[in-house]
Order: sequence, then C-alpha cells, then structure tokens
Amino acid sequence: MLIDSYNRVVDYIRISVTERCNFRCQYCMPEKPFSWVPKENLLTFEELFMFIKVTIDEGVKKIRITGGEPLLREDLDVFIKMIYDYAPEIDLAMTTNAYLLKSTAQKLKDAGLKRLNVSIDTLKPDVAQKIAQKDVLANVLEGVEEALAVGLKVKVNMVPMHNMNADEIVDVLEYSKARGMVVRFIEYMENKYASKEISRVPSSELLAILAQHYDFVEEGYDGASPSRYYRMSDGYKFGIIEPYGDDFCKQCNRIRLTAEGHLIPCLYFDEALSIGKAIKEGNIAGAAEVLREVVKNKPEKNRWGGEDGEVSSRAFYETGG
Ligand code: SAM
Ligand code: SF4
Repeated sequence: MLIDSYNRVVDYIRISVTERCNFRCQYCMPEKPFSWVPKENLLTFEELFMFIKVTIDEGVKKIRITGGEPLLREDLDVFIKMIYDYAPEIDLAMTTNAYLLKSTAQKLKDAGLKRLNVSIDTLKPDVAQKIAQKDVLANVLEGVEEALAVGLKVKVNMVPMHNMNADEIVDVLEYSKARGMVVRFIEYMENKYASKEISRVPSSELLAILAQHYDFVEEGYDGASPSRYYRMSDGYKFGIIEPYGDDFCKQCNRIRLTAEGHLIPCLYFDEALSIGKAIKEGNIAGAAEVLREVVKNKPEKNRWGGEDGEVSSRAFYETGG
C-alpha cells in the first residue's frame, strides 16, 4: 500500500498520455507551446503499462487517462484493454474534451473504460469558439450523446469564467441533469500559460447564482473526490472543485504521471521524479522505488492558497489537470 507522510493512502494515478491538444482553451493552452516533447521521449503504451502494473501491485485502485487531449493518441483503446485485462476491477476512467468521442466511444467502452469526464464550458457555439479558439461545440455534444448511448458513465466539468460563460452555469447544469450526468464546476486555477484576462468565478458566487434557482444542501466530499457535493431537493447532485479552499488537500489520494514519465506528487508543486529511465531499462524495482519516493514527498497542501501570489509554472496540459 502507498501511504504518504501525512498518512493519506495514495491509490489513484492520473496518466497524461500526451500533452498535445486539438483545442487552445484560454485557461489551459491558449497558444501552441514553443515546442512539444519530442515523440521519441514519450513513453510507449507498453512502457506506460509496465509502470501501471507496478502501481496496481502497490495498491492503486483508480486510473484516469488524461492529457492534453488523450484521444489524439492512436490506439488508446488497445492501451485501455491492456490495463483492463490485467486488473478488470480497477476504476478506469478518462478525461476528454469529447471532440473525437463520437467515433471512439464504442471502442473505448469495449476495451474496458468505465467512466468519462467531459469538459463542457458552454452550450453556445460562439462562446465555445472563443474559449477553445476553434469551432468545436457540435462535435463535443455529438461525442457526449454517443458516450451515453454506448453506456459509459459521464460526468461534466465546467470552468466558469466572468465575461465568458458565467451566465451559463444554470444551463450547463440543466443540460447535464437532463442526461443523468453529474456536473462539477471547477474554479479556474491560475497558471502562467493561461490568458491573462481570465477571471475566476469563486465558489461563493457560484453557489449564490445556483441558490437563485434551486434549493440544495451541502453533502461534503464524497470519499477522496476533490469535489464538494451538493444535493438539490429533487435528488440531483452537483459538485464544486475549489483548489483554493482550506480543506481541499486533506484527503488527497492521487499522483500524476506525464507522457514522458515524470511522476508528480501534486498538481501545484514543481518537484517531480522520472520513472522514464528505469522503465526504459526494464528496471521494475527501480521504478517502484521512484514511486515510493514520490508518494513520500507528497506535500501536505497545494500552493494555490498561498499568500505570496505564486502562480503555477506547470502547464495543465502537461500534468493532465
Ligand atoms: N483535454 C481534456 C479536457 O479538456 O477534458 C483533458 C485534459 S484537461 C487539462 C483536464 C481538465 O482540466 C479539464 O476539465 C479542464 O477544464 C481542466 N483545466 C485545465 N486548465 C484549467 C485551469 N486553469 N483551471 C481549472 N481547470 C482547468
Ligand atoms: Fe486541451 Fe483540455 Fe487544455 Fe482545453 S483543457 S487546451 S481541451 S488539454
């Protein structure tokens, strides 16, 4: 079992399979990076799988595939099937912008994927064009319908921003609710890659907007989920992810692996160790040692709440959000 220095059990790994993306979201990758990680530096699916087996053997129970945009990586279903065949009981999920989901949802489900989180910040084509800097909405919505049709469980992620999509908080909730999908509103997290003019809608403001339309009660965190949940009087549940909040890190159970093998103990923490060399040499014991070291180094709290005005220098498209 993997236990960090604050007695938290680490049983969840998020794996970014590529930093590349077909969107240019204002809050994540508004401009194409100066250079991408060279393809030869990426871990192959066989190498990633070799490490995943180590994590599962050490007690990991939940794996999320993310990116960049994970569906840009070819043969992702084959990779998912490798994991599923090794440990079918693993909670195997993916986060995607859904642009390529229509043609891939069935294959992913057949391979063993259980759950999807899709990012839907708006239901207006022109706003989607503004946020992602591409005409994306029709493909995204078709992708979501297909994922639901093939029987994948789907949650929705929305990042509300002033003067952008804050007026659609209720619409996105209603859209999700009508399809049986839980929506989670993610507070915008500052990082040095995002467009400067983005303005975060804090959870207090979000709740005030929702309270004008619905009755709900707070249910708190659901296990180690980063989301605080709220239950409406008709039973529908929505969540808010507040990384700036005081108790956000208390139950953190996760680490992150980048596409080139950097193992990161916290989303907002610059330190990382590489498992790349050990895995490429087939040194399983060495990779397991790095894993234990990273878990041991997990900080108690992320740095978003810090008073020194520090801004994350690690890109979300690299760490997988
Ligand atoms: N491309 C996929 C997608 O967009 O769903 C997966 C990767 S993306 C980095 C994962 C999640 O991080 C998305 O839900 C996205 O909205 C969120 N995200 C990215 N940048 C963010 C930021 N600055 N603040 C809050 N959430 C962010
Ligand atoms: Fe791409 Fe996802 Fe980042 Fe948007 S949030 S730029 S879709 S990685």
